[in-house]
Amino acid sequence: MLFHMNNMKKKRGDAMNRDSPTVGKGYADLEYPEDMLALIRDGLPKTNCPKKVLIAGAGMAGLVAGLLLKEAGNEVTILEGNGRFGGRVYTIREPFHPGNYMEMGAMRLPDTHKLVFEYIRRFNLPVNKFNNTNPQDLFFANNILTTRAIYNENPDILQFPVEDWEKGITAQDLFLNAVRPFLDRYRQASDEEKEQMEQQFSSYSMEEFLSDNPYGRSLSPAAIASISVLLGIEGFPEFSFVDILTDVAYPIFSEEVQFYEITGGNDQLPAAFVARLQDNILYNQKVEKIIQTDNGVIMQTRNPMTGATHSFTGDYAIITIPFTSLQFVDVIPHNSISFNKRRAIRELNVLPAVKIGIEFRNKFWEQQNLGNATTDTLTNFSYIPSHNIGTPGPGVMLASYTWGQNALLWNSLPQSEHISYALDGLSKVYGPQVYREFLQGVSFNWGQNPFSAGCFTLFTPPQQKNFKEIIQQPEGRLHFAGEHTSSFHGWIEGAIESGIRTAYEVNSRECP
Ligand SMILES: Cc1cc2nc3c(=O)[nH]c(=O)nc-3n(C[C@H](O)[C@H](O)[C@H](O)COP(=O)(O)OP(=O)(O)OC[C@H]3O[C@@H](n4cnc5c(N)ncnc54)[C@H](O)[C@@H]3O)c2cc1C
Repeated sequence: MLFHMNNMKKKRGDAMNRDSPTVGKGYADLEYPEDMLALIRDGLPKTNCPKKVLIAGAGMAGLVAGLLLKEAGNEVTILEGNGRFGGRVYTIREPFHPGNYMEMGAMRLPDTHKLVFEYIRRFNLPVNKFNNTNPQDLFFANNILTTRAIYNENPDILQFPVEDWEKGITAQDLFLNAVRPFLDRYRQASDEEKEQMEQQFSSYSMEEFLSDNPYGRSLSPAAIASISVLLGIEGFPEFSFVDILTDVAYPIFSEEVQFYEITGGNDQLPAAFVARLQDNILYNQKVEKIIQTDNGVIMQTRNPMTGATHSFTGDYAIITIPFTSLQFVDVIPHNSISFNKRRAIRELNVLPAVKIGIEFRNKFWEQQNLGNATTDTLTNFSYIPSHNIGTPGPGVMLASYTWGQNALLWNSLPQSEHISYALDGLSKVYGPQVYREFLQGVSFNWGQNPFSAGCFTLFTPPQQKNFKEIIQQPEGRLHFAGEHTSSFHGWIEGAIESGIRTAYEVNSRECP
């Protein structure tokens, strides 16, 4: 075997640097982002011994790996269990009026995500600004409705019963003040010290860090509640401090980051790969069994529509199936995957999420200059569309976006009731006009999606330490890609990073 994990070169990143917004981690011997950008531009070295590569999954990780390997001269077969490509990049256009759409999966692309934007440039895709935050955004908490601008002037208006010293400080500043000493130290630390800090803080949940801050003033429960509601970490207080800080809270709520979306739908990004991989992708081929032999890999599939079974052979395989869904796949022989990897597959946390979209007759939010909404009600987050602005006619609002525990609540209701509860939630913020303007709605529960069984990965505290390296380690002829194996949990950037890494790994393997 040519490739050994201990050949991996570690490149430490600055967690909160605009150039590398998450904690740096190891990749084959590639450095993020420079080496990966070069591979997107120039491709992998052309192989003089083409390998047959099976890839499970036509999401962003599988498509990136597939195209790189194909362009390097390998024989690529992508087996996709679903009837569509893109995985968690999922733009829906129906049942809405022509021209309207919403993102059920990935919706905002931070400008710090260099790999995403390199592909957007390569495929010449149009982008527009994604309106992540605006002064006219609405906040509704403790039964009080206000705007972001008013709240920023007077944070006490929402009546969270915080302690005296916490009064007059916004949730965002309370949060940033609490984590800044950690970040300042982290930024100045050597690579070894960074590693130590990650290890040390891997045992903290976000809630523990804020309530028992080792570097700064600890926050009261009410202040933590205000952060949880207004910064959207309410659904997962028990998850890893480091992971939430680097993957969710900082990228989304940092004012330095600008967000974009692909005009016409984010699914144009995977579609651009599919156009170049037409002959390589087979749909409705749900991988049920993976057999590793000394000479290769066999994938057995079942068509979920017809029940027909097929068998495919390759020299190597890249598995991009999220670890949740991978548990439904038999990997044979049992010991061809190490104990630690099997443990990670079973235990890695993938968050539930529910998105509910509602189409309204008119874009009343534009006429009334209303922004997105953040609430402590069932709907949690609502986003007005960032596209088709100023055009007359119906518009689709992301009426409710929930994560973690808040998303699980929706499991208790039939889908048909999701829309009416979401409307009720919206009416508290946007007023009774939502009932008059309502046209139709659609709800998607990522926890009930058999192809991911959740929305994205978030470590619980010990997983940062226990699983970080093992997740991406190849097991014999099997290589592992996907957002969950990357440094960017919950982002397309992570899926692309992992696709590049595994394509590079497989291209460097010994000839069959
Ligand atoms: C609700 C939500 C919001 C998000 N928001 C953002 C955002 O704003 N910005 C951002 O950058 N990212 C966001 N993300 C994350 C981003 O969508 C993912 O990180 C990325 O798309 C994951 O790509 P992947 O290839 O790793 O996995 P996937 O896209 O899940 O691809 C895996 C593929 O494998 C297939 N598959 C599964 N099981 C089998 C099987 N047994 N056999 C064959 N095929 C199988 C699946 O159908 C799928 O196509 C969001 C995700 C969700 C769900």
